Amino acid sequence: MSERRVITRFDLEPGTGRAIELLKHQILRIEQIEGGQCVDFNCFNLHDYREHMHTGRTRTEHGLNPGKGAFMWSAPPRERPMVYILEDTAHCNDVLFPRCSPYLYESVFGFHTHTNCQDIQAEAQRQYGLTPDDVHDSFNLFMNTGLEVDGRHPYILRQSTAPGDHVDLLALFDVLAVPNICGADVMRTSNFTLRPVRVTVFEATEADIAAVPEIKRLPSQRTPADFKVKAIKADRALTADPGYVPEFANVPITISDIPIALSDEDYARLTALKATGVHGEDDAAVLRDVLFSWWSEAFLGLPDIRE
Ligand SMILES: [Zn+2]
Repeated sequence: MSERRVITRFDLEPGTGRAIELLKHQILRIEQIEGGQCVDFNCFNLHDYREHMHTGRTRTEHGLNPGKGAFMWSAPPRERPMVYILEDTAHCNDVLFPRCSPYLYESVFGFHTHTNCQDIQAEAQRQYGLTPDDVHDSFNLFMNTGLEVDGRHPYILRQSTAPGDHVDLLALFDVLAVPNICGADVMRTSNFTLRPVRVTVFEATEADIAAVPEIKRLPSQRTPADFKVKAIKADRALTADPGYVPEFANVPITISDIPIALSDEDYARLTALKATGVHGEDDAAVLRDVLFSWWSEAFLGLPDIRE
């Protein structure tokens, strides 16, 4: 494999973050220097900041602890892969917990001023004219989390990442990537301390780019050209448009029965699925389930996320 060309490299110091223009097919490496440091991460479309990474979509596609082979997705209605996780040596990432904030440290610990990811992200993003409200839910690199056995209550454990452990993020289009050193030195997140991490931007090789699985683009992944309101609201107060007339799609909703011819093989499969009991007595529900499975696996190449 050919060598990656280094574009820039620096150490990110505790209490700080940095907004980095990561162009299409550049790789951002976040690397442990001493080990044990959580890094919070925000990501925006460099040419349209209203498109940003969405932990909810990412969590749904790749689980609570996404690693190598996962994408970071943007929020609906854009809903497309922004960066690809090309490498992840520690497999210790989280998309369940929110960023730490001034309120967290004051309400729980009584600190009036404390390093925290909300303020550090906001200060880093300010270089590009963004406000504290633009900080979004964080992808938490190197954060060791899970769910209690009841499946409902999240926990944080100490992490065991070592010097040299790294995550490589390959940009699929031009983004503003914003890593910050998590400000939490009073919890397990970064083993009760704050440490620097190394940041490197590489030019991807052809092999790197070829490693990204294809995700087909669909018409439902919208762009601002699809929006009825084209301009971004400049004032903060919300007032109703007196000329507003609702134009919901497919409304009024009508439901009708459609006969579908099934082969003997299809019918046997439907009967077997129905026997699982999860669809009740509704044949149509079984069919919709089969369609869901076929579409997401065969067409999009996504894993079947049903239980
Ligand atoms: Zn934090």
